Amino acid sequence: MFSCLSLLLLTAQAPLAAPPLSERLETWKREIEQRGEQLVVVRIETDPETSQVRIPPDTPRRALLAPLLASPGLAGQFVQTHAMTLNQQAMEGRIHFVLLNMARAAEFKDAEEPLLAHEFGHAWLDALGFRAPDVTGEAQPCLAIQAGDIVQHILIRGELERRGFVFRDYWIRNLDQALDALKKEGAPGAAGACDSLARIALWTDVRLALSADSWSRYGEFDQAFRRRFPDLAETVDELVTVLKAVDVTALERFRRALAYVHRRLEATAGMEDRPAAPEGPRIPLKTKACLMPSGWLC
Ligand SMILES: [Zn+2]
Repeated sequence: MFSCLSLLLLTAQAPLAAPPLSERLETWKREIEQRGEQLVVVRIETDPETSQVRIPPDTPRRALLAPLLASPGLAGQFVQTHAMTLNQQAMEGRIHFVLLNMARAAEFKDAEEPLLAHEFGHAWLDALGFRAPDVTGEAQPCLAIQAGDIVQHILIRGELERRGFVFRDYWIRNLDQALDALKKEGAPGAAGACDSLARIALWTDVRLALSADSWSRYGEFDQAFRRRFPDLAETVDELVTVLKAVDVTALERFRRALAYVHRRLEATAGMEDRPAAPEGPRIPLKTKACLMPSGWLC
């Protein structure tokens, strides 16, 4: 009797399952699922103070998702974002969980399509084998997340444009807010390694994807970051130079670029020595330009 009542209450409180998707998103989801994989969109209530997350009871494959979000490192990363995609291997194939952080829903409620499209891009790349480093079992999930984001975002931006998603307005709105917040803050407090990596990833994204023509505050952003985080500038400059020179649409180049970015971030965050040239044969570039001092991709 008691357990039935509890179950009823739980059901009554459970938010609606998957949000309705636009036609373009449905098409993309179908394409991913036609590969024998599953894409599950989940709205998750979070508490940014405690990093606690609440997965709706009716979430498909919940038993697979719950242990992942039980990791404090991963939950701590998720509560700070609008959305995150976790790719898991199940017996019958790969499952892509696209998680929306409902504690911050007010910031993206008018932009769910571009937000979900970005996350579908992560799932799509995983399905094609352009995988981000596995976060499970990592001592520093933020390192795997940021390294994967830096390289995957290059491909995602191209694919979103190809599919006709309008995503830059939402992104630039977020950047405007981040820049305003940065300029309002006093002296930066002691930042953890994960904060530094998130700044590097954001800054690299902006440098690779935007310009003074596409974002009026591009120069202001770059100057503000250089002033506030001078110790990160060398890493960002190097990542931008390397990634501009490499065509990561080829899987082998993608993997090598990702391995390099992972080790470069590790070194910047003091987790490992700065990497030298990667092992193995050098990869021919599509472009002739090769500006890297170490010449690692030339
Ligand atoms: Zn992303």
